[in-house]
Amino acid sequence: MAKPSQIFREFAFSLCLVCLSIAVLSTPIAAQKADNEYQVGAILWTQTSAEKAALSYQAFSLARLRLDQDFRASRNRRGKRAVIVDVDETVLDNSAYQAKLAKEQKPFEGKTWTDWCNRAQATALPGAVEFLRYANSRGVRVFYITNRRVTEKDGTARNLRALGFPDVTDNTLLVRTDGSTKEPRRQSVAAKYRIVLLMGDNLNDFAEVFEKSKTIDSRLSAAEQNKKQFGSRFIVLPNPMYGAWEDAVYGEGRLTDEQKADKRKETLRGY
Ligand SMILES: [Mg+2]
Repeated sequence: MAKPSQIFREFAFSLCLVCLSIAVLSTPIAAQKADNEYQVGAILWTQTSAEKAALSYQAFSLARLRLDQDFRASRNRRGKRAVIVDVDETVLDNSAYQAKLAKEQKPFEGKTWTDWCNRAQATALPGAVEFLRYANSRGVRVFYITNRRVTEKDGTARNLRALGFPDVTDNTLLVRTDGSTKEPRRQSVAAKYRIVLLMGDNLNDFAEVFEKSKTIDSRLSAAEQNKKQFGSRFIVLPNPMYGAWEDAVYGEGRLTDEQKADKRKETLRGY
């Protein structure tokens, strides 16, 4: 038969275990920090390098050159001209959103992205407003085709208008309604206008062939096959922060941050 002191010790031990379990279960699990330190270089380059600004001016001055060329070459051609631009990292700079995520070690999330879009605080890419205002002043219809969503449309329109972008209306700001492909929206513009130029930071902004190419090799091969279009009908802006290029590195399927880090390292080509 157990002695009273032994019973007391066992009772006290059990009580401690219960208290410990309650303490562990009621402690909030610290939010897992996102592994986005590797993005710091790309964000810094985007925010601080004069080269980034110069590349942006270069893209929009080439766009103007191509548009002027089209005015001269096809003065008598029928059909109203259109220019299609993507929004993010093509005419709006969202590096502040990326920087906040990196500083706080937080992952990209739809909720914080929508909040950022509706704050309407993105800045304009250098040369973008001037070029699109010029195109608009010459009677060219400007279309903004973006994969921002309907819930982000008002904020996007406010942001673009506040920065001075021309002709931002329900008819010209074409957000994502079903699926990320931009082809149906491009086709809807092509049905009524002659598309002189497309501008984007992601090859998916230009043609369906790129949207279908998802691996590194097939993307490089699609770029090679369409090389004559770059700098003429397709004008690309640099975005080292994110994009389909990064998805191609990771391949299909969901990876953990650790698996993504491994993929990045194993994809690097050394000598
Ligand atoms: Mg973009």
